Amino acid sequence: MSNIKKIAVLTSGGDAPGMNAGIRAVVRAGIFNNLEVFGVRRGYDGLVNGEIFPMDAKSVANIIQRGGTILKTARSEAFKTIEGRKQAYDNLRSHEIDAMVVIGGDGTFTGASKFIDEFDFPIIGLPGTIDNDLAGTDFTIGYDTAINTVIQAVDKIRDTAESHDRVFVIEVMGRDSGLIAIRSGISTGAEAVLVPEFEVDYDAIMKRLDKSRKNKSSRIIIVAEGDKEGGMIVSEKIKENFPHYDVRLSILGHIQRGGSPTCMDRVLASRLGVAAVEALVAGRRGEMAGLICSEIRFTPFKSAIKHNVKLNEDLLRIIEILSL
Ligand code: ATP
Repeated sequence: MSNIKKIAVLTSGGDAPGMNAGIRAVVRAGIFNNLEVFGVRRGYDGLVNGEIFPMDAKSVANIIQRGGTILKTARSEAFKTIEGRKQAYDNLRSHEIDAMVVIGGDGTFTGASKFIDEFDFPIIGLPGTIDNDLAGTDFTIGYDTAINTVIQAVDKIRDTAESHDRVFVIEVMGRDSGLIAIRSGISTGAEAVLVPEFEVDYDAIMKRLDKSRKNKSSRIIIVAEGDKEGGMIVSEKIKENFPHYDVRLSILGHIQRGGSPTCMDRVLASRLGVAAVEALVAGRRGEMAGLICSEIRFTPFKSAIKHNVKLNEDLLRIIEILSL
């Protein structure tokens, strides 16, 4: 057991739906465990600048359903320097804060790892990113909501594609990961999905488009933003191959980040937030709380950020089979 009495919580990197549910869980689980809880505004930048304030049960009321993050988030260059991290440590100690929960992605955990090594300061992380690109959890907070947002958008685009007999190339988020693309592709009946993890076989895609023309008047190709080609080049290549097709490009962009979190993201963030506080109280540090097969699991930051999240190749095969 640790002697922790005061903890801080912050959100960092890109915002993700469910971060507020995570903040709420950390604050209330902290109070439940007789801890004083502080919020940090604007991620690591706020830590460096001393934007630290006390939070109580009421300060997280009525936020579980809200997208974004009430603590705000930032990408901090200052925290990447040793001087910045020393300033952050001094600010934490000036409030006598002795542990922290950080909610973010791989960059956030890389920074947290350095901070622990340098200042011997206990930190537990919650995976908060729409990209699902962290090892040590089946799903990250925000991923399920983002996919459902993509599905809603693609379903609407399908109506137009169907009415005008069009081919739509739709670019979705995910950074270097094709996980958003592949799951939303299966869920929307996309004819093809292009992901950064695998080389694009253009011949096969063109053949599939041509073949599926017999059965369908609209075709949807989903392209992950991290794919080498990107939506623009893919749509140009389809136009070159099939000049008679009416091909349109839609880049979904930032609508994928916002919105009210799904049930899955709210429950995930709530469970992991409570687990993070209990872990700090139990003396754990330097780990990310995650959920594997519905069980809480802790993974060292250095393993969680190794980018070894495998994309299941069988999902691409399913898309091919079902796109007849
Ligand atoms: P997302 O997956 O949504 O982009 P993220 O946590 O990966 O989230 P980043 O912007 O990569 O987002 O990282 C968040 C912050 O973590 C950075 O702005 C920076 O302050 C800190 N950080 C990232 N890399 C390092 C590093 N190598 N050393 C110290 N701090 C870092």
